[in-house]
Amino acid sequence: QKNSNGKYTVSFIEGDGIGVEISDAVKQIYAAADVPIEWESCDVTPLFINGKTTLPQQAVDSINKNLVALKGPLATPVGKGHQSLNLTLRRTFNLFANVRPCKSIQGYKTPYENVDTVLIRENTEGEYSGIEHTIVPGVVQSIKLITKVASERCIRYAFEYARSVGRKEVLVVHKASIMKLSDGLFVKTAEELASEYPEIKLSFELLDNTSLKLCTDPSDYKSLVMVMPNLYGDIMSDLSSGLIGGLGLTPSGNMGDKVSIFEAVHGSAPDIAGKNLANPTALLLSSCMMLRHMSLNSYADKIENSVLKTIASGPEHRTKDLKGTSSTSNFTEQVIKNL
Ligand code: ATP
Ligand code: MG
Repeated sequence: QKNSNGKYTVSFIEGDGIGVEISDAVKQIYAAADVPIEWESCDVTPLFINGKTTLPQQAVDSINKNLVALKGPLATPVGKGHQSLNLTLRRTFNLFANVRPCKSIQGYKTPYENVDTVLIRENTEGEYSGIEHTIVPGVVQSIKLITKVASERCIRYAFEYARSVGRKEVLVVHKASIMKLSDGLFVKTAEELASEYPEIKLSFELLDNTSLKLCTDPSDYKSLVMVMPNLYGDIMSDLSSGLIGGLGLTPSGNMGDKVSIFEAVHGSAPDIAGKNLANPTALLLSSCMMLRHMSLNSYADKIENSVLKTIASGPEHRTKDLKGTSSTSNFTEQVIKNL
């Protein structure tokens, strides 16, 4: 819904590390492109209430009100015993499916041309359920939780997504040959849903086989939508990113019933933070997914075309991760020129 200034208010979690720099790039480019969006900055520095990682109420209220958020990477402090903030966000807003498209960038050469994959990752449970304990010293147990409810809403989303973008096949990636009950339930749930989508072919592939095939010839995955449990999605989406030029390029959307949060696939990249080296493309393309979700397609096209044109225009306008010599701010200026 538009606000009193005739614009849409969107929550913006700028994030940690390179998050600050790439969020700044997005803001500059949006202002230059006259996108009818007002950003509402959200501080998500976590509170610890009864030992639980909790988001500040102000941030929760902002996102629940605006329904759409853009998010930079959040660092999770290692070894402090609390839950990742990314996980907390996904749980708080019930963001059950994570959509990760990966498309070759024309003009940036990688070993494969015409990569065009879509991966949907179950986003709330599986290996990320966070249930781990020591049984006796030297023996630990980590529980992979799979429920029919979470599997169904994620796989249903994959079918709906395939239908909406005109892809004719949903491919379930799994390891039910070993994890007979857990991955078995994921597979069985997909089989049960298939009859509701008669025009879409449902197929299955073992995770190891998909890994082999995806990096042998990614063109086999062009006309389908992959869907898989949480950890497999995490790993396979990094693999997919590698096929098109790395983490600096790949966007994602965390989809829920009500709220959606769009974010780059990469982390806070502490190794290059504060050095004006980060590539803002992944966050920019995530923001374009967001614009299309909001039916602001013409702005999405305008920004996406300008980003792609800038990358294709040569190494002097590309950031270091793409073998270029440009800083974050030079890249941003060039995108603005190309709008
Ligand atoms: P985190 O713990 O927050 O996930 P990380 O150490 O795993 O951080 P990632 O952000 O996942 O780091 O990045 C992995 C590698 O990719 C790093 O070397 C980083 O510099 C690089 N990288 C990630 N994102 C970008 C980007 N947007 N631009 C340039 N390089 C990037
Ligand atoms: Mg990482």
